[in-house]
Amino acid sequence: MGGVIVVNVLPRLLGTYGDVGNELALLHRLRARGIPAEGVHVEPGESVPDSGDIYLLGGGEDRAQVLASRMIGAGLARAVSRNAVVLAVCAGYQILGTSFTDSGGAAHSGLGLLDVETRPLPQRAVGEMVVEPAVPVGTLVGFENHRGGTTLGADAQPLGWVTKGVGNGVSSSEGAQQGRVFGTYLHGPALALNPDFADHLLSLVVGDLPPMDDGYEVRARAHRLSSPV
Ligand code: GLN
Repeated sequence: MGGVIVVNVLPRLLGTYGDVGNELALLHRLRARGIPAEGVHVEPGESVPDSGDIYLLGGGEDRAQVLASRMIGAGLARAVSRNAVVLAVCAGYQILGTSFTDSGGAAHSGLGLLDVETRPLPQRAVGEMVVEPAVPVGTLVGFENHRGGTTLGADAQPLGWVTKGVGNGVSSSEGAQQGRVFGTYLHGPALALNPDFADHLLSLVVGDLPPMDDGYEVRARAHRLSSPV
Protein backbone atom coordinates (compact mmCIF):
# COMPACT_ATOMS: atom_id res chain seq x y z
CA MET A 1 0.00 0.00 0.00
CA GLY A 2 1.00 3.63 0.03
CA GLY A 3 2.15 5.66 -2.96
CA VAL A 4 -0.18 8.33 -4.26
CA ILE A 5 -3.41 8.44 -2.25
CA VAL A 6 -6.55 9.36 -4.20
CA VAL A 7 -9.47 10.15 -1.88
CA ASN A 8 -12.97 9.90 -3.34
CA VAL A 9 -15.23 12.01 -1.11
CA LEU A 10 -18.70 10.54 -0.53
CA PRO A 11 -19.04 8.70 -3.86
CA ARG A 12 -22.32 7.15 -2.63
CA LEU A 13 -23.86 10.61 -2.50
CA LEU A 14 -21.83 12.27 -5.23
CA GLY A 15 -21.68 9.43 -7.74
CA THR A 16 -24.86 9.80 -9.78
CA TYR A 17 -23.10 10.66 -13.03
CA GLY A 18 -20.31 8.06 -13.06
CA ASP A 19 -17.68 10.45 -11.75
CA VAL A 20 -16.17 7.60 -9.70
CA GLY A 21 -14.46 6.87 -13.02
CA ASN A 22 -12.17 9.85 -12.34
CA GLU A 23 -10.60 7.83 -9.53
CA LEU A 24 -10.21 4.78 -11.79
CA ALA A 25 -8.56 6.91 -14.48
CA LEU A 26 -6.05 8.41 -12.02
CA LEU A 27 -5.17 5.07 -10.44
CA HIS A 28 -4.79 3.45 -13.87
CA ARG A 29 -2.53 6.22 -15.19
CA LEU A 30 -0.28 5.99 -12.13
CA ARG A 31 -0.06 2.19 -11.94
CA ALA A 32 0.51 1.81 -15.71
CA ARG A 33 3.66 3.87 -15.16
CA GLY A 34 4.81 1.80 -12.20
CA ILE A 35 3.82 4.40 -9.58
CA PRO A 36 2.05 2.83 -6.57
CA ALA A 37 -1.37 4.32 -5.92
CA GLU A 38 -4.23 3.71 -3.55
CA GLY A 39 -7.89 4.76 -3.76
CA VAL A 40 -9.76 5.61 -0.56
CA HIS A 41 -13.55 6.08 -0.41
CA VAL A 42 -15.05 8.31 2.27
CA GLU A 43 -18.45 6.86 3.22
CA PRO A 44 -21.29 8.71 5.02
CA GLY A 45 -20.40 8.91 8.74
CA GLU A 46 -16.65 8.81 8.11
CA SER A 47 -14.46 11.88 8.33
CA VAL A 48 -12.43 13.03 5.36
CA PRO A 49 -8.76 12.18 5.95
CA ASP A 50 -6.39 15.11 5.50
CA SER A 51 -3.38 13.05 4.39
CA GLY A 52 -4.44 12.32 0.78
CA ASP A 53 -2.69 13.63 -2.32
CA ILE A 54 -5.66 14.07 -4.66
CA TYR A 55 -9.32 14.51 -3.64
CA LEU A 56 -12.26 13.87 -5.94
CA LEU A 57 -15.89 14.97 -5.56
CA GLY A 58 -18.53 14.01 -8.12
CA GLY A 59 -21.97 15.11 -9.22
CA GLY A 60 -25.29 14.50 -7.51
CA GLU A 61 -28.87 15.62 -7.27
CA ASP A 62 -29.80 18.56 -5.03
CA ARG A 63 -30.80 16.55 -1.94
CA ALA A 64 -27.67 14.38 -1.96
CA GLN A 65 -25.61 17.49 -2.62
CA VAL A 66 -26.97 19.31 0.46
CA LEU A 67 -26.39 16.22 2.64
CA ALA A 68 -22.84 15.83 1.33
CA SER A 69 -22.06 19.51 1.92
CA ARG A 70 -22.99 19.08 5.60
CA MET A 71 -20.96 15.88 6.02
CA ILE A 72 -17.62 16.86 4.57
CA GLY A 73 -16.23 18.69 7.63
CA ALA A 74 -12.78 20.23 8.04
CA GLY A 75 -10.58 17.41 6.69
CA LEU A 76 -10.79 18.58 3.09
CA ALA A 77 -9.86 22.17 4.00
CA ARG A 78 -6.86 20.88 5.98
CA ALA A 79 -5.78 18.81 2.99
CA VAL A 80 -6.05 21.89 0.71
CA SER A 81 -3.93 23.91 3.14
CA ARG A 82 -1.34 21.09 2.88
CA ASN A 83 -1.34 21.61 -0.92
CA ALA A 84 -3.45 18.60 -1.90
CA VAL A 85 -4.97 18.63 -5.39
CA VAL A 86 -8.78 18.66 -5.65
CA LEU A 87 -11.02 17.97 -8.67
CA ALA A 88 -14.70 18.57 -7.98
CA VAL A 89 -17.40 17.96 -10.58
CA CYS A 90 -20.80 19.66 -10.80
CA ALA A 91 -22.50 19.18 -7.38
CA GLY A 92 -19.00 18.76 -5.91
CA TYR A 93 -17.85 21.95 -7.66
CA GLN A 94 -20.84 23.87 -6.29
CA ILE A 95 -20.18 22.54 -2.75
CA LEU A 96 -16.60 23.87 -2.84
CA GLY A 97 -17.85 27.39 -3.49
CA THR A 98 -18.86 29.93 -0.86
CA SER A 99 -22.58 29.23 -1.28
CA PHE A 100 -25.05 27.48 -3.55
CA THR A 101 -28.78 27.93 -4.04
CA ASP A 102 -30.65 24.77 -5.02
CA SER A 103 -33.28 24.57 -7.74
CA GLY A 104 -36.01 25.03 -5.09
CA GLY A 105 -34.50 28.42 -4.14
CA ALA A 106 -32.97 27.41 -0.77
CA ALA A 107 -29.50 28.82 -0.12
CA HIS A 108 -26.77 26.67 1.47
CA SER A 109 -23.28 27.43 2.73
CA GLY A 110 -20.43 25.94 0.75
CA LEU A 111 -16.98 24.98 1.96
CA GLY A 112 -15.35 28.17 0.66
CA LEU A 113 -12.44 26.37 -1.02
CA LEU A 114 -13.24 28.07 -4.34
CA ASP A 115 -14.27 31.71 -4.67
CA VAL A 116 -17.43 30.89 -6.62
CA GLU A 117 -21.17 31.14 -5.96
CA THR A 118 -23.97 29.12 -7.57
CA ARG A 119 -27.60 30.05 -8.29
CA PRO A 120 -30.21 28.35 -10.49
CA LEU A 121 -30.11 29.05 -14.23
CA PRO A 122 -33.43 29.79 -15.99
CA GLN A 123 -33.31 26.22 -17.34
CA ARG A 124 -31.32 23.03 -16.84
CA ALA A 125 -28.15 22.70 -18.92
CA VAL A 126 -27.99 19.24 -20.48
CA GLY A 127 -25.79 17.99 -23.30
CA GLU A 128 -22.34 17.62 -24.72
CA MET A 129 -19.73 20.20 -23.81
CA VAL A 130 -16.47 21.23 -25.50
CA VAL A 131 -14.12 23.52 -23.61
CA GLU A 132 -10.97 25.38 -24.62
CA PRO A 133 -8.95 25.12 -21.43
CA ALA A 134 -7.05 27.84 -19.62
CA VAL A 135 -4.73 25.14 -18.24
CA PRO A 136 -2.01 23.64 -20.48
CA VAL A 137 -3.97 20.62 -21.74
CA GLY A 138 -5.88 19.80 -24.94
CA THR A 139 -9.53 20.67 -25.68
CA LEU A 140 -11.72 19.26 -22.90
CA VAL A 141 -14.77 17.16 -23.78
CA GLY A 142 -17.60 15.64 -21.75
CA PHE A 143 -21.25 16.19 -20.93
CA GLU A 144 -23.12 18.44 -18.54
CA ASN A 145 -26.38 18.05 -16.64
CA HIS A 146 -27.06 20.78 -14.07
CA ARG A 147 -29.47 23.52 -13.08
CA GLY A 148 -26.99 25.65 -11.16
CA GLY A 149 -24.99 28.43 -12.82
CA THR A 150 -21.76 29.58 -11.23
CA THR A 151 -20.24 33.06 -10.86
CA LEU A 152 -16.52 33.37 -10.21
CA GLY A 153 -15.14 35.79 -7.62
CA ALA A 154 -11.78 37.55 -7.84
CA ASP A 155 -9.73 34.67 -6.40
CA ALA A 156 -10.91 32.03 -8.89
CA GLN A 157 -9.97 31.76 -12.58
CA PRO A 158 -12.00 29.92 -15.23
CA LEU A 159 -10.86 26.39 -16.03
CA GLY A 160 -11.65 27.24 -19.65
CA TRP A 161 -14.17 28.63 -22.13
CA VAL A 162 -17.07 26.74 -23.67
CA THR A 163 -17.21 26.41 -27.44
CA LYS A 164 -20.19 24.04 -27.11
CA GLY A 165 -22.54 23.77 -24.15
CA VAL A 166 -23.27 26.01 -21.18
CA GLY A 167 -20.59 25.48 -18.50
CA ASN A 168 -20.79 28.10 -15.73
CA GLY A 169 -23.75 29.58 -17.56
CA VAL A 170 -23.35 33.19 -16.46
CA SER A 171 -20.60 33.85 -19.04
CA SER A 172 -18.91 31.58 -21.56
CA SER A 173 -16.53 30.42 -18.86
CA GLU A 174 -16.48 26.86 -17.63
CA GLY A 175 -15.31 25.62 -14.26
CA ALA A 176 -12.83 27.26 -11.95
CA GLN A 177 -9.35 26.87 -10.60
CA GLN A 178 -7.79 28.38 -7.53
CA GLY A 179 -4.33 27.13 -6.62
CA ARG A 180 -4.55 23.36 -6.78
CA VAL A 181 -8.34 23.24 -6.47
CA PHE A 182 -10.27 22.63 -9.71
CA GLY A 183 -14.02 22.67 -10.32
CA THR A 184 -15.83 21.69 -13.51
CA TYR A 185 -19.25 20.83 -14.93
CA LEU A 186 -17.66 18.13 -17.13
CA HIS A 187 -18.87 14.59 -16.61
CA GLY A 188 -17.64 11.82 -18.85
CA PRO A 189 -15.96 10.80 -16.57
CA ALA A 190 -13.84 13.90 -17.28
CA LEU A 191 -10.47 12.32 -16.52
CA ALA A 192 -11.17 9.22 -18.62
CA LEU A 193 -12.09 11.35 -21.65
CA ASN A 194 -9.37 13.95 -21.10
CA PRO A 195 -6.20 12.02 -20.26
CA ASP A 196 -3.90 15.01 -20.45
CA PHE A 197 -6.05 16.80 -17.88
CA ALA A 198 -5.66 13.70 -15.68
CA ASP A 199 -1.88 13.86 -16.20
CA HIS A 200 -1.88 17.59 -15.47
CA LEU A 201 -3.41 16.90 -12.04
CA LEU A 202 -1.09 13.96 -11.42
CA SER A 203 1.99 15.95 -12.39
CA LEU A 204 1.18 18.47 -9.66
CA VAL A 205 1.77 15.59 -7.23
CA VAL A 206 4.43 13.39 -8.85
CA GLY A 207 6.15 15.72 -11.37
CA ASP A 208 6.55 15.07 -15.11
CA LEU A 209 5.10 11.81 -16.39
CA PRO A 210 6.19 9.71 -19.38
CA PRO A 211 3.65 9.34 -22.20
CA MET A 212 1.46 6.24 -22.25
CA ASP A 213 -0.82 4.50 -24.75
CA ASP A 214 -3.98 6.60 -24.96
CA GLY A 215 -5.44 4.89 -28.03
CA TYR A 216 -8.79 4.19 -26.44
CA GLU A 217 -9.10 7.69 -24.99
CA VAL A 218 -8.13 9.27 -28.32
CA ARG A 219 -10.89 7.30 -30.09
CA ALA A 220 -13.46 8.22 -27.41
CA ARG A 221 -12.53 11.91 -27.71
CA ALA A 222 -12.71 11.86 -31.52
CA HIS A 223 -16.20 10.38 -31.29
CA ARG A 224 -17.31 13.13 -28.86
CA LEU A 225 -15.80 15.89 -30.96
CA SER A 226 -17.41 14.65 -34.18
CA SER A 227 -20.82 13.92 -32.63
CA PRO A 228 -23.49 16.25 -34.07
CA VAL A 229 -25.52 16.21 -30.80
N1 GLN B 1 -27.68 19.52 -8.25
C1 GLN B 1 -26.80 20.33 -9.01
C2 GLN B 1 -27.47 21.11 -10.13
O1 GLN B 1 -28.50 20.71 -10.62
C3 GLN B 1 -25.66 19.49 -9.54
C4 GLN B 1 -26.08 18.50 -10.61
C5 GLN B 1 -24.95 17.57 -10.98
O2 GLN B 1 -24.09 17.27 -10.17
N2 GLN B 1 -24.97 17.04 -12.18
O3 GLN B 1 -26.98 22.11 -10.52
